Amino acid sequence: MSKARSIHSKQARLEADGETHRRDCECARCDAGFSPSEREREVAGRRVAGKQGRRAAERASERRKETARLKQLELALFFQQTNARADAEVQRLRALRVQAASDRRMDEFLRLRKDGLSVELALAEVDRRFPAAGPSGADNDNGQAAAERTNA
Ligand SMILES: [Zn+2]
Repeated sequence: MSKARSIHSKQARLEADGETHRRDCECARCDAGFSPSEREREVAGRRVAGKQGRRAAERASERRKETARLKQLELALFFQQTNARADAEVQRLRALRVQAASDRRMDEFLRLRKDGLSVELALAEVDRRFPAAGPSGADNDNGQAAAERTNA
């Protein structure tokens, strides 16, 4: 936006702060002797410096906040990945345990059949020795191990 033109042809020459008329300003006001005093220049300079300092401090604060936010995200992602890996490992071990239990049941069934038990009796015996692991049973092999020991 251009400054409103005065009735005089000469426009005000301003300092970098956009307000203070320069020493070599030849606008009507300055020509008439109303140019800023050295004191006013000093105050204006300090005001600009203060404003720049505050802006720099705000930018630094924003950068710190952004850095902290990114670190938080990174940390959250790290834990998320760690949890996902741990969950996958638990799933894998559960599947292995289910497979192992199934293998034990099959081994026992075949052994009992070889010993001459009928299919029905062998199945009943396997069920008695290896109670089918329910959802809670799969998470707790203490009970199963105890059952196997008492039946051995
Ligand atoms: Zn001026």
